[in-house]
Order: sequence, then structure tokens, then C-alpha cells
Amino acid sequence: MNSEAPAFDTHPHYRTPCSLSHLTATLGKRRAREIRSHYPDGLTLADLSFEQAIDADNLTLLDGAWGPKSTPIALAADFGLRLADLVVSNGVARGFISEQEAQQQYVTIGRHPSEWRAICDADTLRMHHRNRVFVLSETPEAFGLTVLWEIGYSIGDLNLGTGPEAFEQRTTAAMAAEMSTAPFTPDQVAALHVWQQGETAVRCKAPECSLTDQPVLEASAAGLTCPRCGEVRSWAWRAMTGEDVDV
Ligand SMILES: [Zn+2]
Repeated sequence: MNSEAPAFDTHPHYRTPCSLSHLTATLGKRRAREIRSHYPDGLTLADLSFEQAIDADNLTLLDGAWGPKSTPIALAADFGLRLADLVVSNGVARGFISEQEAQQQYVTIGRHPSEWRAICDADTLRMHHRNRVFVLSETPEAFGLTVLWEIGYSIGDLNLGTGPEAFEQRTTAAMAAEMSTAPFTPDQVAALHVWQQGETAVRCKAPECSLTDQPVLEASAAGLTCPRCGEVRSWAWRAMTGEDVDV
């Protein structure tokens, strides 16, 4: 097995216990008692953030291409199951586990969605949370948020291995520092407009557009917008907005 799995749970909240009084004050006595039964070893502040996402039926998940996406719990659990299978599959490709072992672990690979749809719930998402399939981002403020989840792509000592390219790009703290987020200033819009006329213009990768000619996104203060499907990308690399990039 791979002994050099990267640690993705670098947010300090993973190492900060959540006191009973804080838990009760935040979620109420009854809910606090329910939640404690899921965490026999005690809760951290990361666990609290996670339970609040479940209560709100929304995990705000960072999409490497499009920025933060509001994701209902059932959809996040579904996505987590597919990610987890991809991690196992990569474990096979890299020789960490056998194909036979992998077959016993797969939930989605080789099976119809109707076979796992029923388990796309909070309990499954808790399992993903424990396995660090999704982790707290250290740079939510780059997107004007206080809580943001990223793909951790790790299960125990297995991980995606192929790295971020499987999901376009994982936006880490270092990458966030190289990003500009909307609203853009007039100067930034002007620079983006010039960039979008060049050969490396950012094109729409929404499912319905990526199958066709991938329209070039249009720059405005609100972000980069697809003229066809209207999807808005709220950030750009600083190189695109004409700002200095510290490397
Ligand atoms: Zn589009």
C-alpha cells in the first residue's frame, strides 16, 4: 500500500475539538445529542461544519473549472461514491491493490445508478467526510465564503494518484493566490477582453456546450459568461487580468 498519501485535511479545524457547549449552542440540545452519536471519539470544528452542511442540505464544493458550487447532500454523496471508486480504481492501476479486491469495494463502477441511489444520503456523505473524500478548503475567502469544501481525493492511504488533472485542476491555496475573483474592475475587464480574443481564450465547458464548439466566454464585471448557456465563471487567473503573478 502507498505509505506516502498526501494529507488533505490541513485546515486547522480538523485539529480543533468542538466543545459540547459550543455544539449545543450552535445546533440545539436535541440535535447535538443526535450528532454526538455519529462521533464516538468526539467532534472537531471540521465535523461541526460538516454537520451544518448536512442540516442545510448544501455542501459548497469547489469545482476546479467553475469555482464554488452549491451541492445538495444527495448529489454530493453520489459524487463522493464515484470519486471513491475512482480512487480504488487508481489503486489498482498503480498496483496497490488487486483487481479482485477492487471489485469488492466498487459501489458505482460496473453498476447501474439505481443500485446505489438509495444510499446517496447523509450517512454516506459522513463516510466520505471520514475518508477525506471532501475536505475543508483553507482559502474560502478567495471566493468570498467562510466555508468551502474541496475534493480531497484520498481514501485512507489510497488516493487518486493521477492528481488534479482528472478533475481539471484542484484549486489549492497556492493556486488561489494566483486568482482574481469577480466583481472585476474596468481595468481587469479590459485585460480579460483582450485575453479572450487570443489563442488561449477560456471556453465554455458546461456539458451542453463542451459537446459543440465550446463558445468563448465573454468578460464583464460579473465574471466570464458563456454567451450560449449563460454559465458564469466568477474567477480568472491573475495572468489573465493583467496583474503580476508571484511565483
Ligand atoms: Zn456554455
